[in-house]
Amino acid sequence: MSLQKCQTEGCDGQGCVTLEIIQAPLYEADANRFKVVCCECATSISDEVQKEHGLAKWREVVPVVGLPATIGSGSDSYPAKVTEVSASGKRIKVQRLCYHAGEGHDYFGTQVWVVTDEPEGDERVYTLRKNGRWIQQGDSINGQGIGLGFARAHQNPSF
Ligand SMILES: [Zn+2]
Repeated sequence: MSLQKCQTEGCDGQGCVTLEIIQAPLYEADANRFKVVCCECATSISDEVQKEHGLAKWREVVPVVGLPATIGSGSDSYPAKVTEVSASGKRIKVQRLCYHAGEGHDYFGTQVWVVTDEPEGDERVYTLRKNGRWIQQGDSINGQGIGLGFARAHQNPSF
């Protein structure tokens, strides 16, 4: 499966994220509001748009090797990254990343985690289901999903 190039000028990244950018005032639907960009550009564009009180919706994320991911488990989240994508694009392998508390981390308030690579990290397989969600292989369609495009850690302090 080949992806088009990131639409940001001068960027050589793969266009794996379809963004719907809604500028303030939010009710104005611009015909050019869709943009296909790489994951890094999608993140920075989302931040920019938010600063201007607009909205950037991640409409579609096509997994590519190296794409950040977030594994949900109960009320906790674990950072991961995509390490393998099948030819059909409907089956991916993700690897857990390493994370530790960063500066300003507050377990009961704002959690700040520093995420780093973990070459020996646990690998899991996820498949794209009919409902459009990525679920761990072997689990039912209502099983715990995975988020693509960001690698976030969160621990629920009440457990
Ligand atoms: Zn880009």
